[in-house]
Amino acid sequence: MDIEIIPCLNDNYSYLLKDNQTDTVAIIDPSEFGPCDKKINQKYKKLDLILNTHHHFDHVGGNAELKKKYGAKILGFENDKKRIPEIDTLLKDGQEFKIGNLNVKTIFIPGHTSGHIAFYFEKEKVVFTGDTLFSLGCGRVFEGTYQQMFESLNKIKSLPGDTKIYCGHEYTKNNLGFCIKFNPNNKYLKYKEKMLEAKIKDGKPTIPSTIKEEIQTNIFLRYNDVDVKDALNLKNASDLEIFTKLRDLKDNF
Ligand code: ZN
Ligand code: FE
Repeated sequence: MDIEIIPCLNDNYSYLLKDNQTDTVAIIDPSEFGPCDKKINQKYKKLDLILNTHHHFDHVGGNAELKKKYGAKILGFENDKKRIPEIDTLLKDGQEFKIGNLNVKTIFIPGHTSGHIAFYFEKEKVVFTGDTLFSLGCGRVFEGTYQQMFESLNKIKSLPGDTKIYCGHEYTKNNLGFCIKFNPNNKYLKYKEKMLEAKIKDGKPTIPSTIKEEIQTNIFLRYNDVDVKDALNLKNASDLEIFTKLRDLKDNF
């Protein structure tokens, strides 16, 4: 499988995928028509499928025009059939489907929105997490509960450590500052900071990360780290309480 990162809007990423055995081409979360169309033209000159993680405009903005130009089919979560523009195929939690010969699994991860899903390629060890798990952060809780978001993040956290994570936004640098503030003694964060600085200096995306790296560095997966609990002054709080406090603090960071 080939994966092309397409920067869109201010800080969004859309992803263009190709199954090399069958030449099937899919795009994940086309934010806007222009840059996605340009990349499709450069690379493959065709588009078979459009996959949406959730209904927000910065993830579906290119749906209608791309579908019209390339005749692509649009796939999204069944409960969002009224909110995902021009949706054709309704996916259920746990549903498996194919992009050419590639197997993809739908994982329901509500919290950011009530119909958010991830796309998991188990064999290729890749997951597309939309606005649920970011590198060093997580999405805001808009439509769901903190408990739902917490459980959704834990679902992703349980994937194999070497799974690559492709998320919806380039927020990593801002997220790093928040992680360092409330997890100051985490040695992996210091290492990550150096890696990030090098990538940013070269104008490269900080994506993909991996599950293992995120478990080591992403404070929203580190609710049971004593250092984090100390920094929050919440030594005896539950995991969910720590997560909730972190999410609230991050909303105003
Ligand atoms: Zn969103
Ligand atoms: Fe977004």
